[in-house]
Amino acid sequence: MLICSRLQQLDLVPVHLSKSEEDFEIDLLLLSDESTHHYVLILNLTKLVCAINQIQYRSQLVICKSCFHICRSGDRLREHQRGCLENKPARVKMPNESAKDLVFKNVQARWFVPLVIYFELESLLQPVQGCERPPETSHSQFLQIHEPCGYALTVVEHSNDNVLFLKQERGPGCLQTFVKDLHILARDFYERKRAHMIFTGRVEEADPENKELCWICEDLFNAEDEIVLDHCHFSNKFLGWSHSQCNLARRTVKFTPVIAHNLQNYDLHHVCLALSHCEDTTTFQVLPSTEEKFQSLTLGVFIKSFTNSRRANVKVYEYLRFIDSLKFMNSSLEKLVRNLPSDKFQLLRNQFKGKTPEQIDLLCTKRFHP
Ligand SMILES: [Zn+2]
Ligand SMILES: [Zn+2]
Repeated sequence: MLICSRLQQLDLVPVHLSKSEEDFEIDLLLLSDESTHHYVLILNLTKLVCAINQIQYRSQLVICKSCFHICRSGDRLREHQRGCLENKPARVKMPNESAKDLVFKNVQARWFVPLVIYFELESLLQPVQGCERPPETSHSQFLQIHEPCGYALTVVEHSNDNVLFLKQERGPGCLQTFVKDLHILARDFYERKRAHMIFTGRVEEADPENKELCWICEDLFNAEDEIVLDHCHFSNKFLGWSHSQCNLARRTVKFTPVIAHNLQNYDLHHVCLALSHCEDTTTFQVLPSTEEKFQSLTLGVFIKSFTNSRRANVKVYEYLRFIDSLKFMNSSLEKLVRNLPSDKFQLLRNQFKGKTPEQIDLLCTKRFHP
């Protein structure tokens, strides 16, 4: 058996354990830096591991060459190796006192999406007339055409209990209006972001005395930390004091999600048809799963173009990305609504103020409505 190990700042790591079970086996220590590698013969591996771990060496100690676990007897080693040898050679290193807690470091991934568009398209089923086909031959037959007849579109803002925008439209030209509405919303989002680049909210909210911990990484501030004010570029709300580096790492996504339930299998077919009504300057990006089904569809609504300092023409777009909520919550809307406690329908209750609890219940139920 051959074992190669590497000394990294007096830290021994198993690199390779040979599989052959011959009588003759040697242990090698691989000393390496970035450019040179050098093998050294190890005469007694147990003695070396004991020395590095600051354990007193005794002749009855035996070592597992796969993980450098020290056992007091051969029986214990065999018991240990029953599980250990199934894995690749690796050294188990327990965290020390200062690093014993696991901390979430990817603070930028924790950031909420400030605005979300939800929509629902409805269709009328128009029967298709066709001639009878002989039953003995293979054929496909069109039975119905799904004719879009209306939609509902709503914009919801993070930490706002009121719906920002709600529109319902019915009629044969609804797809055209739907696309037009999306363009208007995208331009509105862009203007809002531009207007709130610099915090102009109430300064009293941003209490300078209250600079104790960073609201993003939740660490206490040190005297040498650069502390900055963090605000939402959509709502202009003060979010909290943060480290400068946390503030820079926390990036808002560059698109606004446009969500429908079961989008991929149904609504997206209509949306794709509606794209012919888009402005000529609008760009599209798709992430396809098949030729007919898309994981996501991103619409780039043209805002403006300008010439930059290098005399290049730069086009500015505001992006809307269609995504399917069924991919994140794999259940029917009816079941999802039933699973949510009744006190959670804050947006719905605020939107339909003055309705009785029975009427709100009716809005949360799937049934035929007159
Ligand atoms: Zn082991
Ligand atoms: Zn921080």
